[in-house]
Amino acid sequence: MTEKKTRTDIKMIRSAVKFHGHLGPFLVLGLRMGLAAVQTLRPHGLHDLSATVWSSRNPPQSCAIDGIQFSSGCTLGKGNIRVRSSPMLRASFRTRKKSIIVKPTEKINRMLSTLPKNETQARLRARSIRISKIPDKDLITVTGSHQPQ
Ligand SMILES: [Zn+2]
Repeated sequence: MTEKKTRTDIKMIRSAVKFHGHLGPFLVLGLRMGLAAVQTLRPHGLHDLSATVWSSRNPPQSCAIDGIQFSSGCTLGKGNIRVRSSPMLRASFRTRKKSIIVKPTEKINRMLSTLPKNETQARLRARSIRISKIPDKDLITVTGSHQPQ
């Protein structure tokens, strides 16, 4: 569990890239959003966590959906994730006891919305790795933990 709190480890990124097909900033952001949910909610077993993701349906933003599926275990195949169209990326995660909203910080939103369209693959990878090293507090906000009825 060392370093898990603020960093996405390189092994997880590699596996996620195999699943998703390429490395990009939104994939990494999605990984971190899902990880934060698991760390905050500490679900009991495979079926205790479910998610709703609001995202654009188009890459690059929608790449985050794969990151979230990969790190949270909430997947389309298991039926414990729903995706809603929205230009603003965010996700809610629920266990039987708690629910939270996870979203990127304003700073990260600004950074990602100004990505050059014709970024080279090498630069995109470098940017993704940089994002993977940003501490949670600067990358995402987690709010709204509460006990549902
Ligand atoms: Zn992608």
